[in-house]
Amino acid sequence: MFMKIKLQDISPEGLGVDVKEEEEFRSIAEQRGVKTLSPVTAHVDIRRISGAVEIAGHVAARLSLKCARCLEDYASTVETDFVRHLVRGKDKEREKEKELTPEEMDVTFFEGDEVELLEILFEEVSLEMPTKPLCKEDCRGLCPRCGKDLNKGECKCPPEEKIDPRFAKLKGFKVK
Ligand SMILES: [Zn+2]
Ligand SMILES: [Zn+2]
Repeated sequence: MFMKIKLQDISPEGLGVDVKEEEEFRSIAEQRGVKTLSPVTAHVDIRRISGAVEIAGHVAARLSLKCARCLEDYASTVETDFVRHLVRGKDKEREKEKELTPEEMDVTFFEGDEVELLEILFEEVSLEMPTKPLCKEDCRGLCPRCGKDLNKGECKCPPEEKIDPRFAKLKGFKVK
């Protein structure tokens, strides 16, 4: 497979790569605590532009995520279009920069003459992962008192104690 892209293999016209890879992507994801459920698939176009390498394409992966409300694992497809620029250099040089402009945000530094495509694909997938994953939009979550998963039915807590945390703030609010 073309998981490591050698710079000398990128012709002036560019290089189109179709990716379908399971094992290596799974281990990259696992190292970051993310569980994959299927091979990662992607199509990328790689070209060299004045000292940089541009990788543009689409990536999709099926992941096991943990719901932030009910804490159950659920399957979700995460996919995104992306454009990324790779510049030869060390990440350490980047740490000196205090603030990055938006143009610099999609720049990745690399060393040597190979680009690790799967690492880049995983980064793009992880950027697209929800910060607050929900198994479903209206997940009812766990009862804050007894911890029962309310998606599986009501718990036995007295009704007045079951104040939705989203409305709890309004409790002390007086209407004139
Ligand atoms: Zn849930
Ligand atoms: Zn309860």
